[in-house]
Amino acid sequence: MNKYLQHYIGGHWVDSEGSETRTVINPATEDAVSEVVMGTAGDVDKAVQAAKQAFPSYSQSTKEERLALLKRIQDEYAKRVPDIAQAITEEMGCPINTSSTAQSGAGLGHIASTINALENFEMVESTGDNRVMFEAAGIVALITPWNWPMNQIVAKVAPAIAAGNCVILKPSEQTPGSAQIFAEVLDAAGVPAGVFNLVQGDGPGVGTALAQHPGIDMISFTGSTRAGIQVAKNAADTVKRVHQELGGKSPFIVLPGTPLDKALPAGAGGMLLNSGQSCVAPTRFLIQKDQYDDAVKMLADIFGSKAVADPSKEGDHIGPVVNKAQYDKIQNLIEAGIKEGATVATGGLGRPEGLEKGYYVQPTILANVSNDMTPAREEIFGPVLVVIPYDDVDEAVEIANDTPYGLGAYIAGDPSLAVKVAPRIRAGSVFINSGGLDFASPFGGYKQSGNGREFGKFGLEEFMEKKALIGDIPA
Ligand code: NAD
Repeated sequence: MNKYLQHYIGGHWVDSEGSETRTVINPATEDAVSEVVMGTAGDVDKAVQAAKQAFPSYSQSTKEERLALLKRIQDEYAKRVPDIAQAITEEMGCPINTSSTAQSGAGLGHIASTINALENFEMVESTGDNRVMFEAAGIVALITPWNWPMNQIVAKVAPAIAAGNCVILKPSEQTPGSAQIFAEVLDAAGVPAGVFNLVQGDGPGVGTALAQHPGIDMISFTGSTRAGIQVAKNAADTVKRVHQELGGKSPFIVLPGTPLDKALPAGAGGMLLNSGQSCVAPTRFLIQKDQYDDAVKMLADIFGSKAVADPSKEGDHIGPVVNKAQYDKIQNLIEAGIKEGATVATGGLGRPEGLEKGYYVQPTILANVSNDMTPAREEIFGPVLVVIPYDDVDEAVEIANDTPYGLGAYIAGDPSLAVKVAPRIRAGSVFINSGGLDFASPFGGYKQSGNGREFGKFGLEEFMEKKALIGDIPA
């Protein structure tokens, strides 16, 4: 069993003040895979002091010095991709093919995108006779989830240190392994002591201590809307800047008359990727009434023929969901849908045939769903898709926006109509005809999906303060 019993603070691996540990269960086997220490408020305080010590010097480092550092991180990260992929597969059950490519590759993508953004970023702007200086926000806490663990960690750490901040990362207690390897990467790259600190632990312990700590200037949080609200409340007394990347319930609008064989396979594939455990997964398919029955049949064929199998094996199957709590939650939401009148077009309750162990969920299509039913409103975070009929484009837009969330939306069909529909959708990203994530475009949510943006120059700016220099300024 892997043991993650230390934190990385001030450039060293140090023992925790706490003795409590948590066992991470491999969701494919239900066996213990890692043991991780639950850090304490005292550990957080040590990390804050280390960051504060590093800040005066690091925040004044030049753009060139930070670019050189990011390039060293890029080289060290590339060496550890197989280890990172292995840890992700064991701890959260993502199939090894995806862990080795999209999951670990997202980290490299964010480092490259941050390097490009920093190279092109003007740290000083003029406003007539006066000047605006873009400076580090200060000591920044980063709290991340388990579902795309490297994507979320690197989308925060790379721009935060590129902007001159000193950071404290608290990764998800479900995925401590990839986070520990990432800390080893930064150590090998020679990140100055105190600029990057890692404190392992859970939300109520380390997460709360970070949100409340008076020495922290900003907190960047990715996770559920529930926890994001708690973080903002805990941060309010110390007037921290709070950046939130939260949940989603993204619509996938198939415009009327769009050939289904062009529209549906890519959308269904996006939904099945990572067993549906993506914040921006297209979870609500909206289909015009004339095409509805054909669409449900086609989606049922795609989902019904998707293999579910051991994530440690090569192949294009999907793996289990992350843990028992998540498995139970998904079962409850499918059941709620059935009780409220939804039809199971494929999949349904219980594990897939032949899989008695592991938190495997059947790829499930719920049809005849209206947007007020529970599985259409709540984030399911599993391979479960609801299909909702609409009359015309106006109604499709209304249903798409009828959600507390606003992270992503997808439009399939005539691109010239799609770009007219896109401005009417209240969501941070609109993907047209299977466009995917772009690490240079802003990523983040409207409404209860959060505030602030990540990725590329938008992520870089998020971690900066703007200082006005006004008066007698030499040219
Ligand atoms: P979660 O909210 O349970 O946990 C996320 C992180 O917050 C973990 O590190 C956890 O320890 C910590 N945490 C939990 N409670 C806390 C508290 N009270 N104070 C401080 N920290 C706390 O979420 P999860 O289950 O790890 O991840 C899934 C959720 O994340 C989904 O809702 C998903 O949509 C969301 N997500 C959003 C994005 C995005 O970019 N918008 C990306 C990925 C995941």
